[in-house]
Amino acid sequence: MGNVLIVGAGGVGRVVAHKCAQVPEVFEQITLASRTVSKCDEIAASIKEKTGRTIDTAAVDADNVPQMVALIKKVKPDLVLNVALPYQDLPIMDACLEAGVDYLDTANYEPKDEAKFEYKWQWAYQDKFKDAGLCALLGSGFDPGVTNVFCAYAQKELFDEIHYIDILDCNAGDHGHPFATNFNPEINIREITQKGKYWEDGNWIEIEPMSQTWDFDYPEVGVRKSFLLYHEEEESLVQNIKGLMRIRFWMTFGQEYLTHLRVMQNIGITGIEPVDYNGTPVVPIEFLKRLLPDPASLAKGYTGKTSIGTLIEGVKDGKPKKVFIYNVCDHAECNKEVGAQAVSYTTGVPAMIGAMMLMTGKWKKPGVWNMEQNDPTPFMEKLNIHGLPWHIKEM
Ligand code: NDP
Repeated sequence: MGNVLIVGAGGVGRVVAHKCAQVPEVFEQITLASRTVSKCDEIAASIKEKTGRTIDTAAVDADNVPQMVALIKKVKPDLVLNVALPYQDLPIMDACLEAGVDYLDTANYEPKDEAKFEYKWQWAYQDKFKDAGLCALLGSGFDPGVTNVFCAYAQKELFDEIHYIDILDCNAGDHGHPFATNFNPEINIREITQKGKYWEDGNWIEIEPMSQTWDFDYPEVGVRKSFLLYHEEEESLVQNIKGLMRIRFWMTFGQEYLTHLRVMQNIGITGIEPVDYNGTPVVPIEFLKRLLPDPASLAKGYTGKTSIGTLIEGVKDGKPKKVFIYNVCDHAECNKEVGAQAVSYTTGVPAMIGAMMLMTGKWKKPGVWNMEQNDPTPFMEKLNIHGLPWHIKEM
């Protein structure tokens, strides 16, 4: 029996709130808070309609630590589940420390004025959480999140040594817009316009953005061109998977998406430096976000599937072994269940399961932890039960 405070009423927040409401034996009390309380109220109404349950809602600016602390003290949750934006990670962690409550998120901290994501800022909270006897679980989405758990499961159950990991993320869905992003546009565009990076033989190797591709055959989707990007789970996995020699991350993009992105970059509208417009400083990418479809609004009419997994190569019983552990998720099915598209769904379900791991005590230990630092077995079991069944393909 527990009490959870969810922060952020976007595409992912909607899924997390719905999925928590489906598990009343763990999430007895649920509060959804965001800057815009009307978004929370709309989600609360849809939960009432689907499950008959009532959840509480609240307005909060999570950048404001005293406001967050006051809300936590009022709600008295066992856990704060952060699905606002990466910019809010540190203020929410500070508020959790001050109010004495556990913390979970799905994306690592990123400073607003520099498009750079690294765990160093959040790992620096290790001693503070440990000393306070509190737990912070980082990156409990799909990638990062489930992909880390797949690696931990492979290390525990399938391999004696793991040498190579390729994380492959395909969205083969069609939302019908000429250009839209599947999660927060600002965060998404900042991520993919950075230089690509991968890790091999102890070194990080940087490449020009979108300059390496691989035609991978995704289960239930087929062959899709995939582009090498840097992704945050690589940073923790190189530390936690023993014997690793190389890790890379790949994501698919359609030609239409890439053409739009190239044009937007060329005209400067993806920039993060403020531009003076008639005396008003305007950050181009924030203005662009206003113009683009809200990711949460894409769900209706979205067709097709996501196919995301981890290709792992190594040795078992003295013989070479290679497997692809993956999940396939259907956009329309997600919309039917919780009114969201599959990218929000594949993030929101693992966030709920991560919360369940902490609130039932399975993963609760003082300190700041990445997903693969916990026993993967109970998490893998829950994925099958709560909407993200996984499969293992021998390659
Ligand atoms: P959205 O933009 O749809 O939603 C973000 C929500 O956060 C908005 O509703 C917004 O509030 C709220 N918010 C922003 N700033 C504040 C603030 N200062 N205080 C309170 N609330 C705030 O994004 P998504 O739902 O698509 O993504 C949510 C998170 O999930 C992001 O961090 C994203 O990076 C992460 N993610 C992780 C993935 C993974 O696999 N690990 C995959 C996809 C996303 P409001 O609208 O009320 O103003």
